[in-house]
Amino acid sequence: MILLDGKTLSKKIIQKIKSNVDNMPVKPHLAVIIVGNDPSSRIYVKNKKIAADEIGIKSTIIELPESTTENELLMKIHELNNDSEISGILVQLPLPQHINKNNIITAISPLKDVDGFHPENVGKLAIGIEPYYYPATPQGIIMLLDEYNIPIEGADAVIIGRSNIVGKPMAQMLLNRNATVTICHSHTKNLEDKIKTADIVISAVGKKIVRCKMVNKNSVLVDVGIYKDSNGKLTGDIDFDFVSPDCGFISPVPGGVGPMTIASLMLNASKIHNI
Ligand code: NAP
Repeated sequence: MILLDGKTLSKKIIQKIKSNVDNMPVKPHLAVIIVGNDPSSRIYVKNKKIAADEIGIKSTIIELPESTTENELLMKIHELNNDSEISGILVQLPLPQHINKNNIITAISPLKDVDGFHPENVGKLAIGIEPYYYPATPQGIIMLLDEYNIPIEGADAVIIGRSNIVGKPMAQMLLNRNATVTICHSHTKNLEDKIKTADIVISAVGKKIVRCKMVNKNSVLVDVGIYKDSNGKLTGDIDFDFVSPDCGFISPVPGGVGPMTIASLMLNASKIHNI
């Protein structure tokens, strides 16, 4: 078994982005909007700022109260879209319930949409045109697979989970690289058989899904899931201890997809499309 070491690769990528940014005459400037007081969101935003600072990407965090209306948030985005100082905009999700997430995602200029969630970027990905930005987690996973020279063309890839941020864009990116893709979800029949025969399995569910004897000796297993188990320990979708002796490659949690997502987001944040 070979470990897909996202922690080490992410450090290499961050160093590369840093040296690119060092050479840029105009530095990228990321605006991060956070609405409300969700503790996890605050930690994510803080970590994004730390990563940006390390690379030399300017960042401005805009903290808005829980009571912010959708209209007020749209006006803030409009202002940032028109601010030539700002090269990237990220609205931390989830948003308070009274704000329609899709209206917000659609309001961000596709040229500044560092999360790659705007319909123009999603649509470009779907029809095989280079988007301004790829969503961070799938882009990070592709970089991880490429680092270990894992063949994607012709591979049978099973993706478990069909979220807009991971499962669906992951499927598009693998399809664009000529993999044969199966997307599984909570209604999928015979999931175990599909996992067992796949060359690449990418699990983005948020609970234990891939267990002992479900994989084959060549399986490449990528664990996107991250949550705390009943003992408060961070864990993923794959039962690492039981599955890892039986597979070809496996990404750990933590230290696999998580750091790759941050590196990939920073790669996006380092791009300037509007200047
Ligand atoms: P999500 O919106 O939480 O949705 C979960 C997906 O899992 C849904 O598509 C659901 O199917 C499917 N599912 C649930 N139970 C299932 C089952 N028994 N069998 C097969 N599929 C099942 O997805 P997400 O936002 O992509 O997050 C998934 C996990 O990845 C979470 O743990 C999240 O924290 C983690 N995550 C990690 C990173 C990272 O950087 N490491 C980034 C993003 C997300 P239905 O659609 O039918 O409900």
